[in-house]
Amino acid sequence: MSNALILDGKSLARSIELSLKERVNAFNLRTGKTPLLATILVGSDPASATYVKMKGNACARVGMLSRKIELPDSTTTEELLSQIQELNEDPQVNGILLQHPVPKQINERLAFDAISLDKDVDGVTCLGFGRMAMGEQAYGSATPAGIMKILDHYNISLEGKHAVVVGRSPILGKPMALMLLNRNATVTICHSKTKDLPSIIKEADILVGAVGKPKFIQGNWIKQGAVVIDAGYHPGNVGDIDLEAAIPNCSAYTPVPGGVGPMTIASLICQTMESAEKSI
Ligand code: NAP
Repeated sequence: MSNALILDGKSLARSIELSLKERVNAFNLRTGKTPLLATILVGSDPASATYVKMKGNACARVGMLSRKIELPDSTTTEELLSQIQELNEDPQVNGILLQHPVPKQINERLAFDAISLDKDVDGVTCLGFGRMAMGEQAYGSATPAGIMKILDHYNISLEGKHAVVVGRSPILGKPMALMLLNRNATVTICHSKTKDLPSIIKEADILVGAVGKPKFIQGNWIKQGAVVIDAGYHPGNVGDIDLEAAIPNCSAYTPVPGGVGPMTIASLICQTMESAEKSI
């Protein structure tokens, strides 16, 4: 039986939603308006469709509006850009979520960067990323922002700790590393060209797995007492870390499911609320 603390993202997300519900209500009474998140789904990937649906459902649970825009697989970059521009100009829209990934023919970076900074509640624009990195006000990328909320909620101290982030994607690994750095952790970023990954992971006080490969990080790579965050999610309810084998070494860990996933959505809707409040 392990004594490791379960970092319960599901129940934290639930309590965030409860307080958001009150905030939405108060905002509505004060302004006569309801915060609105626009979601754009391009193509027919079933996993992406499920993620978008979950985000819409979360909006409904807290009393926010969501507007679902579905575009066909054949959408061009220009068509997507013009859709984003329309949403940028619509005063009713407080946040824009473009579901990643988009079909191959689309220039995703161009599309992300077309989202205006004040509506970039998923933290995907280069400008938002740069501002976040410099410690200026910006909405953080939703998954790492959710992970930071979990670490803070459970009072996991970061200062002077060695944090190892495995993965450097623009939406997860990179912003995660900078958020941890901004909180005075000493950060190592690993990727597919990293040599001797197990020995680097063995040095981690805080480990974030964001590799995109099921159970890739092995239990015996984890240092005794490490805090383990598994951002991965794969069919069969497994993450990027072989959690079952890792738990005996951890002091705390995020379960899969019920760890990082619900907090990504909670961050997204919190940031939509903030955007609505700032728009007044
Ligand atoms: P991604 O874009 O595929 O990035 C994967 C990263 O892992 C890349 O930086 C890659 O390195 C690195 N990598 C691949 N093989 C490696 C290896 N052998 N050793 C070390 N690093 C390696 O994935 P992502 O979008 O960041 O997602 C990562 C995971 O998080 C996935 O499991 C995804 O399902 C999950 N996720 C969850 C949520 C959520 O809400 N819970 C949200 C987003 C993502 P290179 O840069 O060198 O290629």
